[in-house]
Amino acid sequence: MSVDATLPYDDGNIFARLLRGEIPSKRVYEDEHTIVFHDIAPWAPTHLLAVPRGSYVSWDDFSANASEAEIVSFTRAIGQAARDAGLVAGGYRLIANTGRDAHQEVPHLHVHILAGRALGPMLV
Ligand code: AMP
Repeated sequence: MSVDATLPYDDGNIFARLLRGEIPSKRVYEDEHTIVFHDIAPWAPTHLLAVPRGSYVSWDDFSANASEAEIVSFTRAIGQAARDAGLVAGGYRLIANTGRDAHQEVPHLHVHILAGRALGPMLV
């Protein structure tokens, strides 16, 4: 079910629980502000999720309210995780579903990193 990205942050969401270590994740990168881990139901041969540690519902919330350090960390972490995974030569796609019409399911900002096959044109 899609979320309303204008709602206040709910710290019971699945990525909040994952960040607290209450549920497992296959982490490939972490720093002070950001973690990157494998999606549990991949859409492509490589499907990673980059998640800020801070409590941000969506891209909109994050871009408006995160500190510059968090934004820099998040941006660099996505690039680093892609390089570490060897995705640069073949290329990769970043997706941040935000709110109802974009079918955001988890109300904690995440960027999908998709790669490993020809992904085709963006279909909306
Ligand atoms: P979105 O529709 O953009 O909110 O995508 C949420 C993503 O989170 C989906 O691709 C799910 O497969 C993924 N997901 C949900 N629960 C977990 C989990 N426990 N560990 C890793 N990925 C998850």
